Amino acid sequence: MNPTPPASRTPPFDVLVREVGPRDGLQSIARTMPTEAKHRWITALAASGLRTIEAGSFVSPKLLPQMADAAAIVRQALTIPGLAVAALAPNLRGARDAFAAGAPELVLTVSASNEHSLANVRMTTEQAVAEAKKICEWRGALPADQRPFVGVALSTSFGCSLSGPVSEDRVVALAVQLAAGGADAVHLADTVGYANPVQVKRLTARVKRELGGKLGAGHFHNTRGQGLANAVAALEAGVTALDSSLGGLGGCPYAPGATGNIVTEDLVFLLESMGLRTGIDLEKLIAARAIVAAALPGEPLYGHLADAGLPKGFVYAATARS
Ligand code: ZN
Repeated sequence: MNPTPPASRTPPFDVLVREVGPRDGLQSIARTMPTEAKHRWITALAASGLRTIEAGSFVSPKLLPQMADAAAIVRQALTIPGLAVAALAPNLRGARDAFAAGAPELVLTVSASNEHSLANVRMTTEQAVAEAKKICEWRGALPADQRPFVGVALSTSFGCSLSGPVSEDRVVALAVQLAAGGADAVHLADTVGYANPVQVKRLTARVKRELGGKLGAGHFHNTRGQGLANAVAALEAGVTALDSSLGGLGGCPYAPGATGNIVTEDLVFLLESMGLRTGIDLEKLIAARAIVAAALPGEPLYGHLADAGLPKGFVYAATARS
């Protein structure tokens, strides 16, 4: 019996917003946020009601010095009551390190594009799938009450900046293979912002038909301004979890001006306006931007809600229902 997603043990909500800024956002910019600021940021994010936070990546500090303090960050985040702490692990070694730090949720990555996989983790897609299976087997051998939840982010599911279009049949087949290999969830990721809503709805629905409850989060980047439209398309296809980063932090150190993940504040506002409960306080979320702005002066922060404010008469979905 595999574990349930840690965040599902908390009070009712309709859509789980997974904050990935401290991992995806910070690893995509050239500068390093000081450990103490990361912890303050994660604490503020959790206080706004975010239930799952990807706190760091257990990758070689030579490759990503921004993530060198991942173990310390995870350990500190674990002291926040009720927070499900997720960590990215690119291989078995990273998974062991993340587990040793206490992460109850692991995120592995497999790139649907072979070219992207080779460039990113120096493994073919096939080798990355085998590595994910090996991690699931290692996890299965742990004592039942200690096994972390294992999700696999299927990156470049909607297109690749190196090879262009990615076959939908291939993505579906990979998702099935990963679920069969022991993954608890498969997240469909638009790593480079190539997706459009029609494509998202079609591919997500296909994966949902094959995987059912193992369909994980939708992960969209706003590189070409399609992020929130893609998030809505994923919801329509049955996704119940979405990744985002505060202030849309991120981008790509090699592509100046490229924006990062979809903006958490705007996503939460979108969901709540649509009558979907997130359990997140928008004012606290917007206030947390100041921590990032102070720790990374000059780093672009995005988001329309922070600029415009909440509209007059705005009510949260939970209030509207009661
Ligand atoms: Zn991403």
